[in-house]
Amino acid sequence: MLQRSVVPALFAGFVFALASCVNPPSRTPERAAPPIAPVAPAAPVAAPARAEPYNLYLLKQEIKTYVDDGRYEAGLTAVAGEAKEWIEQRAVRGGDKLAVVFDLDETLLSNLQHMRAMDFGYVPKLWDEWVAEADAPAIAPVRDVYLAARARNLAIVFITGRKTSDQPGTENNLRAAGLGGYTRIFYKPNGYAGTTESFKTSIRKKLVEEEGYTIVANIGDQTSDLTGGYAERTFKLPNPFYIAK
Ligand SMILES: [Mg+2]
Repeated sequence: MLQRSVVPALFAGFVFALASCVNPPSRTPERAAPPIAPVAPAAPVAAPARAEPYNLYLLKQEIKTYVDDGRYEAGLTAVAGEAKEWIEQRAVRGGDKLAVVFDLDETLLSNLQHMRAMDFGYVPKLWDEWVAEADAPAIAPVRDVYLAARARNLAIVFITGRKTSDQPGTENNLRAAGLGGYTRIFYKPNGYAGTTESFKTSIRKKLVEEEGYTIVANIGDQTSDLTGGYAERTFKLPNPFYIAK
């Protein structure tokens, strides 16, 4: 009986020693086993390649809430306030042919009514009809900036991505919205081959380099309104609705 119990023990010791040679013990100090406790399951994390984009329906709901709870208006008001303060300070310093550049859509004119009626879709024919109706209201805090610049005799220049063919509706709309007293307005030519950004930059370049304006502020809701230089300061208004490049 003794032999039968010793032999397996010796064999087990040999196997252990052999295993230690093949797989040396880890240098990580052993830790006491943690107490067993219920663990909340981890939130499922999708592999990046399988991650879905944000759900369109939910995103539209989020945007409507952003508008309806006043955050959009607050964002517009905050940026417009900064622009107005800067323009008023800058006007005191003076200079030749000081100008303020404004974009139009979602800068001075709000198309929210149309966008919501379209559930944030864009149908060119229906957009053109909306422009022709000339019914977009002014964005009041930005109109205040426009009025402040006018009151200080700065030139007011509108550079819009609207097409030349949008001119009648746009100018009727500007008058109706109390924005009729501008100095110059530039439309993107129908069939313009470049980007809105390149068009807008080329107009500011012309105003500064060829016509001697000093653009003290450039105000818009799109990055493409503002990049490209030729303005002392730029002011980016919020626009979660669309991108114009
Ligand atoms: Mg715009």
